[in-house]
Amino acid sequence: MTANETGGAEHVQWGDGTRCVHAGEPTPAAGMPFRAGPVLAATYHLGVDGDIPEDFYGRAANPTWRALETAIGELDGGHCVLFPSGMSAIATLARLVLRPGDTVVLPSDGYYLARKHIASGMSALDLDVREVPTPGEWSAEVLAGARLVLLETPSNPGMDVCDIAAIAARAHAHGALVAVDNTTATPLGQQPLRLGADVSLASDTKALAGHSDVVLGHVSTADAELADRLRAARTESGAIPGPFEVWLAHRGLGTLDLRLERQARNAAALHRVLAEHPGVRGVRWPGAPGDPAHPVAARQMRRFGGVLCFELPSVAAVSAFTSASRLLASATSFGGLHTTVDRRAQWGDPVPAGLVRLSAGCEDTDDLVADVRVALAAALSTG
Ligand SMILES: *Cc1c(COP(=O)(O)O)cnc(C)c1O
Repeated sequence: MTANETGGAEHVQWGDGTRCVHAGEPTPAAGMPFRAGPVLAATYHLGVDGDIPEDFYGRAANPTWRALETAIGELDGGHCVLFPSGMSAIATLARLVLRPGDTVVLPSDGYYLARKHIASGMSALDLDVREVPTPGEWSAEVLAGARLVLLETPSNPGMDVCDIAAIAARAHAHGALVAVDNTTATPLGQQPLRLGADVSLASDTKALAGHSDVVLGHVSTADAELADRLRAARTESGAIPGPFEVWLAHRGLGTLDLRLERQARNAAALHRVLAEHPGVRGVRWPGAPGDPAHPVAARQMRRFGGVLCFELPSVAAVSAFTSASRLLASATSFGGLHTTVDRRAQWGDPVPAGLVRLSAGCEDTDDLVADVRVALAAALSTG
């Protein structure tokens, strides 16, 4: 699919900042705002000629949704369908695609709720669920007979990476639909549809909306028919995004390029501090040249994000680290303006007790580096 087919040809020539500012905006007209406010209508005038307009009822269609779907579709290079959360995007795709007895391949180190929903929440379908660590092995045995292969790269929380193009080619040879959870990368960081995936989906709760005040998700696909089915499934299930949340996310998207740039700069600086500290182990950030994921990440990613992870020796050390810091908020989720830390084992992720996922925010780099140095000193004196 070229951008021509999605109506965004000229935007592909522009840089990320320009594309983010202008994505999905209306044709300029005198006296009109740059971007209209959220349309909160539950119902619309039908008119009297019997033709049903595009917008007729709020569960089926909404112009505020369409504006953000156009914007994200342009950035992803496909047709975008919004959902009220990232999980709703994943669950709706799984429900549409999977039939009883189907085989589905999932990352064993990916977002825990996606695994839980497909492996236990959909147990009535008697699925053959195969879990593979993100770095592989994505062998023929694993992919054979799969209906759906869901990749997550970089994976959350371990920051491992897999080769989307290579796995998609292999999975397609087995007839599978290939979906990539692109939450950590965002459409600016990585373009799964251009790398050969059938579907790129994400929790836009994270960096795309970016201000820790919206829960939202989307699915993008080059397949117009699949997009229509997803849209119909959203209308029929009734799980729809709120127009105000969608409008806020669109407002947030305008600064995605700026925010990612600052977050990546902060992540690089914090990575150096953490990697040099003798008490910290397992520091992972795909943007670091020495990281095991870096060669593949550098090939398929357009830029790196602000999320990294590392290990402290104990739960007590993580508590001491967080309480000695003035800038690191203990919170789940990532990709927002604020730098946050999350001890992932508390949510049941299969990771060491002291593994911390750190989401670098948009604070000044020097302030964060100084704060993390103080916090590390406190954490590692506790042991
Ligand atoms: C947060 C997250 C989700 C779930 O998204 P919600 O918007 O919280 O429903 C899915 N995948 C990844 C990688 C995530 O980080």
